[in-house]
Amino acid sequence: MMVGAVALVVAAGRGERFGGTLPKQYEDLAGQPLLRHSLAALAAHPGIAGVRAVINMDDLAHYQSAAAGLDLLAPVAGGASRQESARRGLESLEDLAPERVLIHDGARPLVPATVVDRVLQALDEAPGAIAALPVTDTLKREQNGVSAGTVDRAGLWRAQTPQGFRYAEILAAHREAAGAELTDDAAVAEQAGLSVALVEGSPRNLKVTTPDDLAQAESYLAGGAGAPAEVRTGSGFDVHRFGPGDHVNLCGLRIPHDQALLGHSDADVALHALTDAMLGALGAGDIGQHFPPSDPRWRDADSARFLRHACELMTTRGGRILNVDLTVICERPKLAPHRTEMVARVAALLELEPARVSVKATTTEGLGFTGRGEGIAAQAIATLSLPGRP
Ligand code: MG
Repeated sequence: MMVGAVALVVAAGRGERFGGTLPKQYEDLAGQPLLRHSLAALAAHPGIAGVRAVINMDDLAHYQSAAAGLDLLAPVAGGASRQESARRGLESLEDLAPERVLIHDGARPLVPATVVDRVLQALDEAPGAIAALPVTDTLKREQNGVSAGTVDRAGLWRAQTPQGFRYAEILAAHREAAGAELTDDAAVAEQAGLSVALVEGSPRNLKVTTPDDLAQAESYLAGGAGAPAEVRTGSGFDVHRFGPGDHVNLCGLRIPHDQALLGHSDADVALHALTDAMLGALGAGDIGQHFPPSDPRWRDADSARFLRHACELMTTRGGRILNVDLTVICERPKLAPHRTEMVARVAALLELEPARVSVKATTTEGLGFTGRGEGIAAQAIATLSLPGRP
Protein backbone atom coordinates (compact mmCIF):
# COMPACT_ATOMS: atom_id res chain seq x y z
CA MET A 1 0.00 0.00 0.00
CA MET A 2 1.27 3.46 -0.89
CA VAL A 3 0.43 6.26 1.53
CA GLY A 4 1.50 9.91 1.52
CA ALA A 5 3.58 10.71 4.58
CA VAL A 6 4.11 8.70 7.73
CA ALA A 7 5.64 10.16 10.88
CA LEU A 8 8.04 8.11 12.97
CA VAL A 9 8.37 9.36 16.53
CA VAL A 10 11.63 8.17 18.00
CA ALA A 11 11.20 7.70 21.74
CA ALA A 12 13.31 4.69 22.69
CA GLY A 13 15.90 6.54 24.79
CA ARG A 14 16.17 6.24 28.56
CA GLY A 15 17.03 9.92 29.07
CA GLU A 16 20.04 9.60 31.40
CA ARG A 17 20.62 13.34 31.35
CA PHE A 18 17.20 13.95 32.86
CA GLY A 19 17.60 11.98 36.10
CA GLY A 20 14.90 10.02 37.93
CA THR A 21 13.62 6.56 37.07
CA LEU A 22 10.82 7.39 34.63
CA PRO A 23 12.16 7.95 31.10
CA LYS A 24 11.75 11.65 30.32
CA GLN A 25 9.34 11.08 27.41
CA TYR A 26 6.82 9.72 29.92
CA GLU A 27 7.25 12.55 32.44
CA ASP A 28 4.17 14.67 33.06
CA LEU A 29 3.82 17.78 30.93
CA ALA A 30 0.73 19.85 31.70
CA GLY A 31 -1.17 16.81 32.94
CA GLN A 32 -0.22 14.37 30.18
CA PRO A 33 2.85 12.27 29.37
CA LEU A 34 5.29 14.36 27.34
CA LEU A 35 5.29 11.80 24.50
CA ARG A 36 1.52 12.07 24.15
CA HIS A 37 1.90 15.73 23.16
CA SER A 38 4.38 14.78 20.40
CA LEU A 39 2.22 11.92 19.11
CA ALA A 40 -1.01 13.92 19.22
CA ALA A 41 0.53 16.91 17.40
CA LEU A 42 1.58 14.74 14.46
CA ALA A 43 -1.55 12.55 14.46
CA ALA A 44 -3.67 15.70 14.19
CA HIS A 45 -1.76 17.04 11.18
CA PRO A 46 -3.75 16.68 7.94
CA GLY A 47 -0.58 16.04 5.90
CA ILE A 48 0.33 12.94 7.90
CA ALA A 49 -1.39 9.65 7.12
CA GLY A 50 -0.04 7.63 10.05
CA VAL A 51 2.12 7.95 13.15
CA ARG A 52 4.34 5.21 14.55
CA ALA A 53 6.36 5.45 17.74
CA VAL A 54 9.69 3.68 18.16
CA ILE A 55 9.98 2.78 21.83
CA ASN A 56 11.86 0.68 24.34
CA MET A 57 9.56 -2.30 24.87
CA ASP A 58 10.44 -2.23 28.59
CA ASP A 59 8.34 0.95 28.64
CA LEU A 60 5.36 -0.55 26.81
CA ALA A 61 2.96 0.02 29.71
CA HIS A 62 4.02 3.69 29.91
CA TYR A 63 3.61 3.98 26.15
CA GLN A 64 0.14 2.46 26.20
CA SER A 65 -1.10 4.92 28.75
CA ALA A 66 0.55 7.82 26.86
CA ALA A 67 -1.03 6.77 23.56
CA ALA A 68 -4.48 5.80 24.89
CA GLY A 69 -7.25 6.96 22.59
CA LEU A 70 -4.95 8.27 19.84
CA ASP A 71 -5.24 6.81 16.35
CA LEU A 72 -1.69 5.49 15.81
CA LEU A 73 0.14 2.64 14.12
CA ALA A 74 1.38 -0.04 16.53
CA PRO A 75 4.70 0.91 18.15
CA VAL A 76 7.89 -0.91 17.24
CA ALA A 77 11.01 -1.67 19.26
CA GLY A 78 13.98 0.66 18.98
CA GLY A 79 17.66 -0.19 19.27
CA ALA A 80 20.67 0.68 21.36
CA SER A 81 21.22 4.10 19.75
CA ARG A 82 18.94 6.75 18.31
CA GLN A 83 20.26 5.99 14.86
CA GLU A 84 19.50 2.30 15.23
CA SER A 85 16.01 3.12 16.54
CA ALA A 86 15.32 5.33 13.53
CA ARG A 87 16.53 2.59 11.18
CA ARG A 88 14.34 -0.02 12.84
CA GLY A 89 11.38 2.32 12.63
CA LEU A 90 12.03 2.84 8.91
CA GLU A 91 12.37 -0.89 8.31
CA SER A 92 9.05 -1.49 10.06
CA LEU A 93 7.34 0.66 7.39
CA GLU A 94 8.46 -1.46 4.42
CA ASP A 95 5.03 -3.06 3.92
CA LEU A 96 3.34 0.33 4.14
CA ALA A 97 5.92 1.83 1.73
CA PRO A 98 4.99 5.47 2.35
CA GLU A 99 6.15 7.97 -0.23
CA ARG A 100 7.58 10.23 2.46
CA VAL A 101 8.55 9.87 6.06
CA LEU A 102 9.01 12.47 8.79
CA ILE A 103 11.27 11.47 11.66
CA HIS A 104 10.57 13.35 14.88
CA ASP A 105 12.13 13.31 18.34
CA GLY A 106 9.59 12.12 20.88
CA ALA A 107 11.12 14.67 23.27
CA ARG A 108 9.92 17.63 21.16
CA PRO A 109 6.35 17.80 22.42
CA LEU A 110 5.34 21.23 21.10
CA VAL A 111 6.07 20.95 17.40
CA PRO A 112 3.85 23.55 15.66
CA ALA A 113 1.74 22.41 12.69
CA THR A 114 3.31 25.23 10.65
CA VAL A 115 6.77 23.69 11.08
CA VAL A 116 5.42 20.31 9.88
CA ASP A 117 3.85 22.15 6.92
CA ARG A 118 7.17 23.74 5.98
CA VAL A 119 9.06 20.44 6.09
CA LEU A 120 6.41 18.68 3.98
CA GLN A 121 6.33 21.55 1.50
CA ALA A 122 10.11 21.60 1.09
CA LEU A 123 10.02 17.88 0.23
CA ASP A 124 8.21 18.79 -2.98
CA GLU A 125 11.55 20.17 -4.17
CA ALA A 126 14.26 18.47 -2.13
CA PRO A 127 14.99 14.83 -1.18
CA GLY A 128 15.41 15.91 2.44
CA ALA A 129 14.18 18.82 4.59
CA ILE A 130 14.65 19.61 8.25
CA ALA A 131 13.36 22.21 10.66
CA ALA A 132 16.18 24.38 11.95
CA LEU A 133 16.88 27.76 13.54
CA PRO A 134 19.79 30.10 12.85
CA VAL A 135 22.34 30.28 15.66
CA THR A 136 21.96 33.63 17.42
CA ASP A 137 24.42 33.22 20.31
CA THR A 138 28.07 34.04 19.79
CA LEU A 139 30.02 30.79 19.67
CA LYS A 140 33.27 30.16 21.57
CA ARG A 141 35.79 27.40 21.16
CA GLU A 142 37.03 26.26 24.58
CA GLN A 143 40.51 25.08 25.45
CA ASN A 144 41.57 24.32 29.04
CA GLY A 145 38.57 26.19 30.43
CA VAL A 146 39.18 29.45 28.58
CA SER A 147 37.98 30.75 25.27
CA ALA A 148 40.43 29.90 22.54
CA GLY A 149 38.54 31.94 19.99
CA THR A 150 35.22 33.00 18.56
CA VAL A 151 33.62 30.85 15.91
CA ASP A 152 31.93 32.63 13.03
CA ARG A 153 28.25 31.81 13.42
CA ALA A 154 27.31 32.99 9.92
CA GLY A 155 25.55 30.17 8.11
CA LEU A 156 25.25 28.00 11.23
CA TRP A 157 21.86 26.51 12.13
CA ARG A 158 20.56 24.41 15.01
CA ALA A 159 18.83 21.30 13.68
CA GLN A 160 15.41 20.40 15.05
CA THR A 161 12.93 17.75 14.01
CA PRO A 162 10.80 16.77 12.15
CA GLN A 163 13.27 15.78 9.50
CA GLY A 164 11.56 14.69 6.31
CA PHE A 165 12.76 12.43 3.51
CA ARG A 166 11.60 10.29 0.65
CA TYR A 167 11.08 6.96 2.32
CA ALA A 168 13.02 4.65 0.00
CA GLU A 169 16.03 7.00 -0.05
CA ILE A 170 16.34 7.49 3.70
CA LEU A 171 15.83 3.77 4.37
CA ALA A 172 18.69 2.96 1.99
CA ALA A 173 20.83 5.72 3.54
CA HIS A 174 20.21 4.41 7.07
CA ARG A 175 21.13 0.86 6.07
CA GLU A 176 24.31 2.17 4.48
CA ALA A 177 25.18 4.20 7.60
CA ALA A 178 24.48 1.45 10.17
CA GLY A 179 27.05 1.69 12.95
CA ALA A 180 28.38 5.12 11.90
CA GLU A 181 27.12 7.01 15.01
CA LEU A 182 25.59 10.04 13.33
CA THR A 183 23.55 12.38 15.53
CA ASP A 184 20.54 13.00 13.32
CA ASP A 185 18.81 11.62 10.26
CA ALA A 186 19.89 14.59 8.16
CA ALA A 187 23.51 13.54 8.76
CA VAL A 188 22.62 10.05 7.52
CA ALA A 189 21.05 11.57 4.42
CA GLU A 190 24.00 13.91 3.84
CA GLN A 191 26.41 10.99 4.07
CA ALA A 192 24.41 9.30 1.32
CA GLY A 193 24.77 12.41 -0.83
CA LEU A 194 21.16 13.54 -0.45
CA SER A 195 20.58 17.28 -0.37
CA VAL A 196 18.79 18.43 2.79
CA ALA A 197 16.84 21.70 2.75
CA LEU A 198 16.68 23.87 5.88
CA VAL A 199 13.27 25.28 6.72
CA GLU A 200 12.36 27.56 9.60
CA GLY A 201 11.80 25.70 12.86
CA SER A 202 10.40 27.28 16.00
CA PRO A 203 11.74 28.16 19.45
CA ARG A 204 8.60 26.48 20.76
CA ASN A 205 9.75 23.21 19.20
CA LEU A 206 12.27 22.70 22.00
CA LYS A 207 13.79 19.34 22.90
CA VAL A 208 13.13 18.40 26.50
CA THR A 209 16.46 17.17 27.84
CA THR A 210 16.63 18.57 31.37
CA PRO A 211 14.06 19.45 34.07
CA ASP A 212 14.59 23.11 33.07
CA ASP A 213 13.45 22.29 29.54
CA LEU A 214 10.35 20.62 30.95
CA ALA A 215 9.59 23.78 32.94
CA GLN A 216 10.09 25.81 29.78
CA ALA A 217 7.66 23.56 27.86
CA GLU A 218 5.14 23.93 30.71
CA SER A 219 5.50 27.68 30.47
CA TYR A 220 4.89 27.61 26.71
CA LEU A 221 1.72 25.59 27.26
CA ALA A 222 0.54 27.81 30.09
CA GLY A 223 0.96 30.84 27.84
CA GLY A 224 -1.13 29.42 25.00
CA ALA A 225 0.49 29.97 21.63
CA GLY A 226 3.81 31.09 23.03
CA ALA A 227 5.43 32.08 26.27
CA PRO A 228 7.59 33.74 27.34
CA ALA A 229 5.78 36.01 25.02
CA GLU A 230 6.55 39.35 23.50
CA VAL A 231 3.54 41.69 23.33
CA ARG A 232 3.47 43.85 20.21
CA THR A 233 1.15 46.58 19.05
CA GLY A 234 0.48 47.93 15.57
CA SER A 235 -1.70 50.72 14.28
CA GLY A 236 -3.41 51.14 10.94
CA PHE A 237 -5.23 53.99 9.24
CA ASP A 238 -7.06 54.12 5.93
CA VAL A 239 -9.40 56.36 3.95
CA HIS A 240 -11.59 55.66 0.94
CA ARG A 241 -13.63 58.25 -0.92
CA PHE A 242 -17.30 58.00 -1.85
CA GLY A 243 -18.53 57.55 -5.39
CA PRO A 244 -21.68 56.33 -7.05
CA GLY A 245 -23.17 53.08 -5.76
CA ASP A 246 -25.71 51.51 -3.46
CA HIS A 247 -23.69 49.99 -0.60
CA VAL A 248 -20.41 50.15 1.30
CA ASN A 249 -18.32 47.23 2.53
CA LEU A 250 -17.31 47.65 6.16
CA CYS A 251 -15.83 44.96 8.40
CA GLY A 252 -16.70 42.38 5.77
CA LEU A 253 -20.38 43.36 5.77
CA ARG A 254 -22.36 44.79 2.88
CA ILE A 255 -24.14 47.83 4.28
CA PRO A 256 -26.79 49.53 2.10
CA HIS A 257 -26.04 53.21 1.42
CA ASP A 258 -26.78 55.75 -1.29
CA GLN A 259 -23.07 55.86 -2.23
CA ALA A 260 -20.21 53.34 -2.47
CA LEU A 261 -16.59 53.52 -1.40
CA LEU A 262 -14.18 53.65 -4.32
CA GLY A 263 -11.08 51.50 -4.44
CA HIS A 264 -9.22 48.87 -6.37
CA SER A 265 -10.39 46.09 -4.05
CA ASP A 266 -13.80 46.02 -2.37
CA ALA A 267 -12.70 49.24 -0.56
CA ASP A 268 -13.41 47.87 2.92
CA VAL A 269 -11.67 50.71 4.70
CA ALA A 270 -12.16 49.07 8.11
CA LEU A 271 -10.53 45.78 7.16
CA HIS A 272 -7.70 47.67 5.45
CA ALA A 273 -6.93 49.63 8.62
CA LEU A 274 -7.08 46.41 10.64
CA THR A 275 -4.82 44.54 8.22
CA ASP A 276 -2.29 47.37 8.43
CA ALA A 277 -2.45 47.25 12.23
CA MET A 278 -1.69 43.53 12.19
CA LEU A 279 1.15 43.97 9.69
CA GLY A 280 2.44 46.85 11.80
CA ALA A 281 2.59 44.72 14.93
CA LEU A 282 4.48 42.07 12.97
CA GLY A 283 6.87 44.62 11.46
CA ALA A 284 5.81 43.18 8.11
CA GLY A 285 5.30 46.27 5.96
CA ASP A 286 1.88 47.47 4.85
CA ILE A 287 -1.07 46.23 2.89
CA GLY A 288 0.08 47.96 -0.31
CA GLN A 289 3.33 45.98 -0.29
CA HIS A 290 1.56 42.66 0.10
CA PHE A 291 -1.31 43.45 -2.26
CA PRO A 292 -0.23 46.22 -4.66
CA PRO A 293 -3.20 48.17 -6.11
CA SER A 294 -1.36 47.96 -9.45
CA ASP A 295 -1.87 44.17 -9.46
CA PRO A 296 -5.01 43.19 -11.39
CA ARG A 297 -5.41 40.12 -9.13
CA TRP A 298 -6.70 42.36 -6.34
CA ARG A 299 -9.34 44.16 -8.42
CA ASP A 300 -12.62 43.95 -6.50
CA ALA A 301 -10.89 41.54 -4.11
CA ASP A 302 -12.63 40.59 -0.89
CA SER A 303 -10.57 42.43 1.74
CA ALA A 304 -11.10 39.53 4.13
CA ARG A 305 -8.40 37.86 2.13
CA PHE A 306 -5.90 40.61 3.04
CA LEU A 307 -6.73 40.24 6.71
CA ARG A 308 -6.43 36.45 6.56
CA HIS A 309 -2.99 36.87 4.98
CA ALA A 310 -1.85 39.02 7.91
CA CYS A 311 -3.26 36.39 10.30
CA GLU A 312 -1.33 33.65 8.53
CA LEU A 313 1.91 35.64 8.79
CA MET A 314 1.24 35.91 12.50
CA THR A 315 0.36 32.23 12.96
CA THR A 316 3.48 31.20 11.08
CA ARG A 317 5.45 33.05 13.73
CA GLY A 318 3.55 31.29 16.51
CA GLY A 319 1.66 34.45 17.41
CA ARG A 320 -1.88 35.09 18.51
CA ILE A 321 -4.08 38.16 18.80
CA LEU A 322 -4.76 39.56 22.24
CA ASN A 323 -7.23 42.17 21.06
CA VAL A 324 -8.10 44.50 18.21
CA ASP A 325 -9.81 47.87 18.44
CA LEU A 326 -11.26 49.45 15.33
CA THR A 327 -12.81 52.90 14.91
CA VAL A 328 -14.76 53.81 11.78
CA ILE A 329 -15.12 57.55 11.19
CA CYS A 330 -18.04 58.86 9.09
CA GLU A 331 -21.30 60.81 9.30
CA ARG A 332 -23.25 58.30 7.22
CA PRO A 333 -24.22 55.52 6.95
CA LYS A 334 -25.20 55.19 10.59
CA LEU A 335 -23.26 52.22 11.91
CA ALA A 336 -24.73 51.64 15.35
CA PRO A 337 -27.33 49.15 14.05
CA HIS A 338 -24.55 47.09 12.42
CA ARG A 339 -22.06 47.10 15.25
CA THR A 340 -22.82 43.70 16.77
CA GLU A 341 -22.68 42.05 13.39
CA MET A 342 -19.41 43.84 12.55
CA VAL A 343 -17.84 42.56 15.75
CA ALA A 344 -19.04 39.04 14.99
CA ARG A 345 -17.72 39.17 11.43
CA VAL A 346 -14.28 40.51 12.42
CA ALA A 347 -14.06 37.96 15.25
CA ALA A 348 -14.88 35.17 12.81
CA LEU A 349 -12.25 36.37 10.33
CA LEU A 350 -9.64 36.54 13.08
CA GLU A 351 -10.81 33.24 14.65
CA LEU A 352 -11.11 35.12 17.91
CA GLU A 353 -13.74 35.34 20.61
CA PRO A 354 -15.87 38.49 20.14
CA ALA A 355 -14.83 39.79 23.56
CA ARG A 356 -11.37 40.48 22.08
CA VAL A 357 -12.79 42.54 19.22
CA SER A 358 -13.98 46.11 19.49
CA VAL A 359 -15.64 48.03 16.68
CA LYS A 360 -16.57 51.65 17.34
CA ALA A 361 -18.04 54.32 15.12
CA THR A 362 -17.73 58.07 15.44
CA THR A 363 -18.44 61.20 13.44
CA THR A 364 -16.22 64.26 13.24
CA GLU A 365 -19.02 66.67 14.15
CA GLY A 366 -19.41 67.73 10.53
CA LEU A 367 -15.76 68.80 10.29
CA GLY A 368 -13.20 67.78 7.71
CA PHE A 369 -13.58 65.39 4.78
CA THR A 370 -15.56 62.83 6.74
CA GLY A 371 -17.74 65.63 8.08
CA ARG A 372 -18.44 66.81 4.54
CA GLY A 373 -19.38 63.25 3.61
CA GLU A 374 -16.56 62.84 1.09
CA GLY A 375 -15.45 59.47 2.35
CA ILE A 376 -14.93 57.15 5.30
CA ALA A 377 -11.82 56.82 7.45
CA ALA A 378 -10.92 53.98 9.76
CA GLN A 379 -8.22 53.43 12.32
CA ALA A 380 -7.25 50.27 14.12
CA ILE A 381 -4.94 48.99 16.81
CA ALA A 382 -3.94 45.33 17.04
CA THR A 383 -2.14 43.85 20.03
CA LEU A 384 -0.43 40.52 19.43
CA SER A 385 1.45 38.04 21.52
CA LEU A 386 4.47 36.55 19.77
CA PRO A 387 6.84 33.89 21.08
CA GLY A 388 9.95 35.35 22.69
CA ARG A 389 13.30 35.25 20.97
CA PRO A 390 14.96 31.85 20.71
MG1 MG B 1 -7.48 50.96 1.50
